[in-house]
Amino acid sequence: MSFDQLHRYLFNQAHVRGELVRLENSYQSILDSYAYPPVIQKLLGELMAATSLLTATLKFEGDIALQLQSDGPVNYAVINGTHDQKLRGVARWDESLSELPTDFSQLFQKGVLVITITPTDGERYQGMVALDKPTLAECIEGYFQQSEQLATKVILRTQQTDTSAKACGMFLQILPTSSQATITEDTGFDHLSKLTETIKDEELFTLPAEDILYRLYHQEDVEVYAPAEIIFKCSCSRERSANALAAVEKSELLNIVATEGAIKMNCQYCHTEYRFDEIDVHAIHAGTFAMDTQSDQ
Ligand SMILES: [Zn+2]
Repeated sequence: MSFDQLHRYLFNQAHVRGELVRLENSYQSILDSYAYPPVIQKLLGELMAATSLLTATLKFEGDIALQLQSDGPVNYAVINGTHDQKLRGVARWDESLSELPTDFSQLFQKGVLVITITPTDGERYQGMVALDKPTLAECIEGYFQQSEQLATKVILRTQQTDTSAKACGMFLQILPTSSQATITEDTGFDHLSKLTETIKDEELFTLPAEDILYRLYHQEDVEVYAPAEIIFKCSCSRERSANALAAVEKSELLNIVATEGAIKMNCQYCHTEYRFDEIDVHAIHAGTFAMDTQSDQ
């Protein structure tokens, strides 16, 4: 069974929902896309797990983007996740630094976490919180406390060995419909939160998901739903890049080909490079490019 899965569950009496996410192949795909230093790899893993967890809270088709922005060593990191768990993302940092700080808070200066929810049909919603806590998980908890007054518990962990990279996360949140939605009320949230915190890295990274949930919650009234598969997938394509080039003057494109050998377009989300030569430029402007299905990937 695939490790890259998201498990959702509901604690009936406590009106608390929970999630467990584990990423391996999808995480590895993002690590393979660019030569990220270890600190950024860890950050992307946490951000990826967090995005998957939040994507599962969507009640409609669409996507969520978690963006970290700052004036510090890490300028920008983003993971975008769709309602059906397709994740993609990228990070940019000051590559002139020989060494990056390992401490989360030192990676950012005046850092903010921006969460953008974009329904396929409907209005885009954006919320923001300062990156002023020691971990990304705590910043996300703060976001929900601040923006929605929903008691939330987030656990994010990554593990890298010589042979594999894994990113895992757990999420607990009081249901928004509950009348006792604040952390001060005794809804059983604190109890569930403490239980969840007892999860050990070794269990999270190696045990079957069913075993993890049983170990933590076998004394609780919990309903577990069918898991969802998670994949790393970018919505970019050679054809979409070609469409973008169709808006540029043909003479200008031919100029670039003449001076640089080809037009190179890089996807900002997955670093895939799309190259177009002179023949492609003519086809793009003749409107026949779509029929040319050759790919240079
Ligand atoms: Zn892409």
